[in-house]
Amino acid sequence: MRIDLHTHSRVTDGTDTPTMLVMKAFQAGLDVIALTDHDTFDGVAEALEAGKRIGVKVLTGIELSCSLGGQVIHLLGYGCDVWNRALNEELAKVRVGRTQRLPEMCSRLREQGVEVTLDEVMSVAQGAPSIGRPHVADAMVAKGIVKDRQEAFDRYLAQDKPAYVPRYSIELGRAIDLVHEAKGVAVLAHPWGRGGREVLTAPVIERLTREHGLDGIETDHRDHDRDTRLLLFELGARLGLIRTGSSDYHGAKRPDRELGCFTTRKSAYLELVARIRARGGTA
Ligand code: AMP
Ligand code: MN
Ligand code: MN
Ligand code: MN
Repeated sequence: MRIDLHTHSRVTDGTDTPTMLVMKAFQAGLDVIALTDHDTFDGVAEALEAGKRIGVKVLTGIELSCSLGGQVIHLLGYGCDVWNRALNEELAKVRVGRTQRLPEMCSRLREQGVEVTLDEVMSVAQGAPSIGRPHVADAMVAKGIVKDRQEAFDRYLAQDKPAYVPRYSIELGRAIDLVHEAKGVAVLAHPWGRGGREVLTAPVIERLTREHGLDGIETDHRDHDRDTRLLLFELGARLGLIRTGSSDYHGAKRPDRELGCFTTRKSAYLELVARIRARGGTA
């Protein structure tokens, strides 16, 4: 059984429609995928429908933008009730904050001698309901300012770079509680990738497990080297956490993240499903 629990569609910063994503998952020999777009469930209904038609099990998912100690942390939610009110109110705040900072980002880029207009960003985003830095990066690529998204982040858009503008995100403990209130299961995304390691130390993960009932951690991910994956796997075992693995697929824009390049073991998936069902969520 091949299981990939972290993927994006063009509803946020991927490049495939949810349907195309499911077709590619089928082609890649995957039995189960979760669609985990950033801060929105907008693509889920289409993905579930396509999954039934094509014969790939699709799990309802989301990747929440959270914060802890001034650092941006991502949390995966699985099996949530997509209509849950408290969760949706927070998601709306995050999405508005994500888009509202675009003019400020454009003006900071201009200060750096980079001309990218809001219209150009909107045009490459092609109506995506949640527009963020990846779309700003795409506009820069389209104008030939940088060669790819990664260069745009490395030079201008990453958290410690000149055009970075912070935005509203959910405090991590509160985000775990919200996922649970929505009957879902909460898994830390790539906890030791991109600066996460400094704030998500082993004692902090232990505290989140004890105080908020964190359910799992994503151990096998492109942003973790081999040793990091092993250390996280061991830490998760010690804390009784579900340990997942996934591609974090974004379509054509990030070719290093092919569907199924990392996968979740069947036993971990079954434990995840059992927890979702025990909470009354959908799996
Ligand atoms: P935003 O929601 O506008 O803050 O952008 C966050 C998204 O940008 C993440 O979900 C990633 O897909 C992407 N991203 C963030 N940091 C980097 C980075 N250093 N390199 C490449 N992509 C990144
Ligand atoms: Mn992304
Ligand atoms: Mn992420
Ligand atoms: Mn992701």
